[in-house]
Amino acid sequence: MELTAEEKICPICGEPNNCQHGQEKCWCQEVVVPKDLIDMLPEDKKGKVCICKSCIEKHNNR
Ligand SMILES: [Zn+2]
Ligand SMILES: [Zn+2]
Repeated sequence: MELTAEEKICPICGEPNNCQHGQEKCWCQEVVVPKDLIDMLPEDKKGKVCICKSCIEKHNNR
């Protein structure tokens, strides 16, 4: 399974999210993404496109 170009980009900051979906286990499956961060995503991106690590860290440090 190949990721589309859109799925490789963090929907929040627009940087590459390093998603490994479809290959090895993705880091995003071991990280808890804050619910209010997920709520910021458009409906069609939820649960599909990974948020990058730095966005999750930035959010958690707030
Ligand atoms: Zn990001
Ligand atoms: Zn992922």
